[in-house]
Amino acid sequence: MSGLVSAAGLGLVGAAGPADPARRDPEELRALAEEAGRELADASAVEIARWAVETFGERFCVTSSMADGVLAHLVSRVAPGVDVVFLDTGLHFPETLRVRDEVARRMPVRVRSIRPRMTVGQQDGQYGPRLFSRSPDDCCQLRKVEPLERALAGYDAWAAGLRRDESPTRANTPVVGFDPRRGKVKVNPIAAWTQREVDAYVARHDIPVNELLARGYGSIGCWPCTRRTKAGEDPRAGRWAMFEKTECGLHT
Ligand code: SF4
Repeated sequence: MSGLVSAAGLGLVGAAGPADPARRDPEELRALAEEAGRELADASAVEIARWAVETFGERFCVTSSMADGVLAHLVSRVAPGVDVVFLDTGLHFPETLRVRDEVARRMPVRVRSIRPRMTVGQQDGQYGPRLFSRSPDDCCQLRKVEPLERALAGYDAWAAGLRRDESPTRANTPVVGFDPRRGKVKVNPIAAWTQREVDAYVARHDIPVNELLARGYGSIGCWPCTRRTKAGEDPRAGRWAMFEKTECGLHT
């Protein structure tokens, strides 16, 4: 956070999140993640998802930016009814919301749309309009990072669709790791997949995909902070292009 937005103002209560009596000891989770990271390094995406489901049961969820429904579909094959968390910032493209709705309609999952504490209008009133153009770190804190902390309360592990070939900043993504900020296990079942493997999975299972990907957007976030990318450009170069920022804080 740059300083405009205080942790106290957000109601943050530290890495552990709100009180959760069923929460497992973070040090136990860290050891579990390190062992699984070694043992599952070469496992398939389904095997990694199955390990997470068998290890954490209902205290495991999937998160999705709704660039596509691949991860939600893959995990739902081993855990029908799994929770899929979507951070509804209020600033998404309509195409992104359509993928969310399609995932909810066509897959055996429970989509949880998590909203920020403030509407965009309330945020404009408190911090001034277009916070994203002045202080994107603060805007992401308010509209993504804090909502994720809140959404993950009640889970010991979460899955994300990070892939190593998305960007140099993601080149070392482990298939299972420990998220020290939140004290939880973070699972990346498709970390080793290439774009070609994603495309093949989409075709094989008729997975909903964000239409913007076919219109030149290499990576999709909120509309004010996303532009098209050029051929050969890092897919994430179109995110926060006016700033030296490539991650919103969910995965760092
Ligand atoms: Fe705000 Fe942009 Fe971050 Fe969305 S991506 S939360 S609009 S700064």
